[in-house]
Amino acid sequence: MAKIDMDIPVVEMDGDEMTRVLWALIKEHLICPYVNLKSEYYDLGLKNRDYTDDNVTWEAARAAKRYKVAVKCATITPNAQRVKEYNLKNMWKSPNGTIRAVLDGTVFRSPIIVKGIQPYVRTWKKPISIARHAYGDIYKNVELYTQKGAKAELVVSYEDGRQERSLIHEFDCPGIVQGIHNIDSSIESFARSCMNYALDKGENLWFSTKDTISKQYDHHFKDIFQKIYDEEYSIKFQEKNIEYFYTLIDDAAARVIKSDGGFIWALKNYDGDVMSDLISSAFGSLAMMSSVLVSPEGVYEYEAAHGTIQKHYYRYLNGESTSSNSVATIFAWSGALKKRAELDGISELLEFSKKLEKSVLLTIESGMMTGDLAGIFTGDIKKILNSEEFITAIRHNLENIL
Ligand code: NAD
Repeated sequence: MAKIDMDIPVVEMDGDEMTRVLWALIKEHLICPYVNLKSEYYDLGLKNRDYTDDNVTWEAARAAKRYKVAVKCATITPNAQRVKEYNLKNMWKSPNGTIRAVLDGTVFRSPIIVKGIQPYVRTWKKPISIARHAYGDIYKNVELYTQKGAKAELVVSYEDGRQERSLIHEFDCPGIVQGIHNIDSSIESFARSCMNYALDKGENLWFSTKDTISKQYDHHFKDIFQKIYDEEYSIKFQEKNIEYFYTLIDDAAARVIKSDGGFIWALKNYDGDVMSDLISSAFGSLAMMSSVLVSPEGVYEYEAAHGTIQKHYYRYLNGESTSSNSVATIFAWSGALKKRAELDGISELLEFSKKLEKSVLLTIESGMMTGDLAGIFTGDIKKILNSEEFITAIRHNLENIL
């Protein structure tokens, strides 16, 4: 079979530790033998972020804006221990945070469903996708320790000298105070991308916040969603026979557990952060979750939802065999290639990407899988494979399908 040509590059953001090892194997075995891969490469590995004073992350995010499609490997977000381990100049910010700040938008996460891996919640029959707002709230907070006797106020000043003030608290013992914000334009684009995604998937959209307690902040999110739904989407939703549904976050959490799945749950930034890990673990494994950031300008950045699988990497460095699951990283690649194919009208690339995903599912369903899945797989396990064997088993199935 002749290799498939691409017109426009995908932005390739390499990363750290075990996922960096998997990244190279995926390209070597599952992409490059079949596609004349056009990618604009940015090394977001921690060493290079440090070497470039993190400029590489900003450049990669700007390239994503230009080319519209990016694929990102998991990266280390440094903490004090990593600063020591890598002898860093600075405790650089989370690359995902930087990319989200540049692109804005919404992160959609959906479980990758395989026959033989049952969700822990027995009523769930269909996937539940989480739509996480990727701007603001505590991710752009300012916070202070306060001392006894402190009076904390919220002050908003305007150019014309007007001020609005509100008392937060008068402290009679030491404490803490935090300021957060969000902006209408970002909430509006969050609402639109969730509604577009729901129409795309033909699934109901749920949205939940804590508006009974946060009567202005959270309520504002609710109002914006409702206005955009009423003015721009209600007819399209009716035509597709799907619903938009708002409820309080605690009510939503209870309903999610009793549901049979098959919907999109939109959540504010922090709620989405927590709930996407909870939902992915309950569906079986963090390594079986696809993740894409969709910006209001139509930029798509695909990644795995998990981290760099640090413990496996230390074993790998010791020359030991690891059984790291590459499914989510493969789906990041197939997602990016599928989107590139759609945007550029390359049907062979679209077909190839779908077949790549199919061969991953076939491999697991035939009983060949990595160690993390073996514990939760209910079918017959033929063999537990190491990281490289798993990728070559997928390649074998891919060759058969192609
Ligand atoms: P992790 O997701 O790497 O690992 C969490 C646990 O899940 C570990 O026990 C790990 O062995 C297991 N696990 C995760 N993915 C797996 C896979 N594909 N196959 C098999 N097992 C898997 O998260 P962590 O240990 O909290 O963090 C490690 C590093 O990853 C940190 O430096 C953190 O900053 C970074 N991180 C990056 C991202 C990202 O770039 N998207 C997300 C989370 C964490």
